[in-house]
Formats: sequence, C-alpha cells, structure tokens
Amino acid sequence: MSSSLTAVVVLVTLLHVGAFAVMIWIRVRRTEADDTPGRRASTTPCAVCGEPATHRSYDGRDPDQQYDPHTGRYWSADMAHYPPLCAAH
Ligand SMILES: [Zn+2]
Repeated sequence: MSSSLTAVVVLVTLLHVGAFAVMIWIRVRRTEADDTPGRRASTTPCAVCGEPATHRSYDGRDPDQQYDPHTGRYWSADMAHYPPLCAAH
C-alpha cells in the first residue's frame, strides 16, 4: 500500500515538472518569434548615416530612369536604386 502511494506521488511530481518545462519552452519560443521581425526591421541601416532606416528613396542614379509628368519627378523601376534611408534623409 505504501509503495503504491509513493509511486503515485512520484508520478504526479514528474507530471508537474514536465508541465513546468513545457510552459517555459512555450514562453521562450514565443519570445524568440516576437523578437525576430522587430530586430530585422530595426537593423536595416540608413545608406547615408547608418541610423535605423524608416523608408526607401530613389538615389537618382539609374541610367534608365523614368520621368513622371504628374509629380515632375524621376523614378526607377530598379529597386537597387532605392537605398534604405532614416527619417532625417
Ligand atoms: Zn540617415
């Protein structure tokens, strides 16, 4: 009788430890998933000063650039001529 009671106590203890470990694992995984996109967005450096970039802007160096008569500005179909820039540039 006493040995079966000990077995039940050991089993319940193992279940609690297992559930605790799963909760920690889920929390760690969720934290990693939350961090990754934010870190990726904030580490794109400004092409001029290296601060975190907020937008992209045409650099005016595309030999095949297009003229938009509506805005009076040139633009490019090549995204390589749109370097990332911070709010100040
Ligand atoms: Zn900048």
